[in-house]
Amino acid sequence: MENIDPTSDSEWRDKLSDNEYQVLRLKGTEPPNSGKYNIHNEIGIYYCAGCDAKLFHSESKFQSGCGWPSFTEKIEDDAIEYIKDNSHGMNRTEVVCASCKGHLGHVFNDGPKPKYIRYCINSISLKFRTELV
Ligand code: FE
Repeated sequence: MENIDPTSDSEWRDKLSDNEYQVLRLKGTEPPNSGKYNIHNEIGIYYCAGCDAKLFHSESKFQSGCGWPSFTEKIEDDAIEYIKDNSHGMNRTEVVCASCKGHLGHVFNDGPKPKYIRYCINSISLKFRTELV
């Protein structure tokens, strides 16, 4: 691990790119079909781009067609936290990294059987690696 996780806003600004900061810390959304992991089928692990925590395994990734990387389940129970999001006139559930509280995306109940869960995640909030570290 290269450095200690930031604890203040100015440290996050230093660590993250402008686009990463916009999504992870300000809860922005990358444009649909723009992210590098939207269509990406390698086998491995998706980590938090903010703090390197494990978030999703490629086995749970599926092609939803929504324009963002989509997953049916988180990698571990305590990897992700849920926050009610009533912004933009919608009732959604935001998902954040449990470790650094960085914004990841939202979770919906229109995923594939049997759980019908779809984690809709910004590519920019993720870092993929082919091997466990
Ligand atoms: Fe994180």
